[in-house]
Amino acid sequence: MATGLNKGASNTFVNKDGVNFNIKYEYRASVDANKLGAGENVLTFSTENSNGYDRSGVNVKTKENGEHFAGNTGVIYKNEKDNGTILHETGHFIGLPDRYFEYKWLDNHWSEPMTGFDDDKMGNSDKKHIDDLYYQQYMTKAKVYSSPKTKMVRSYLQIGRNKKGNLLDKKGQVVYDSRAINNY
Ligand SMILES: [Zn+2]
Repeated sequence: MATGLNKGASNTFVNKDGVNFNIKYEYRASVDANKLGAGENVLTFSTENSNGYDRSGVNVKTKENGEHFAGNTGVIYKNEKDNGTILHETGHFIGLPDRYFEYKWLDNHWSEPMTGFDDDKMGNSDKKHIDDLYYQQYMTKAKVYSSPKTKMVRSYLQIGRNKKGNLLDKKGQVVYDSRAINNY
């Protein structure tokens, strides 16, 4: 049963007005990732542990023009199989970008939320909510999608980026940290 995850999702992916993404989880022994329907995604639980390079994640697709699409498949490694991580990866399925930087110094490897995203599930997978800003950004995307010139795609366009695909901070500036090993 995926009760804990369903409860986690209904508490996490909801704004102060009660707008909810209505995310539902189901455990299945096997799923054909090529036969996923609209709005369906699959997270595979690996029997392996992650290492420094292969971490749990969602297969985000980046087009040449810089557009990032959420993708609908992902993997959760054995040592990262907790509800916090699963809910964070689910955030990617609905089009949310990562909101943390990773740092490495000698044998130490750590991450820190980007400015303004300390309480956001995409900045720290232990947190219980997603940032209110996202709801506004979804509305902007919805307006773009409702324009007749927009081509529909079978995945969610990642929000929070400019037209070149650069991730923007809360002030609208391109996100960059020269000390981070991942730059968006
Ligand atoms: Zn992530």
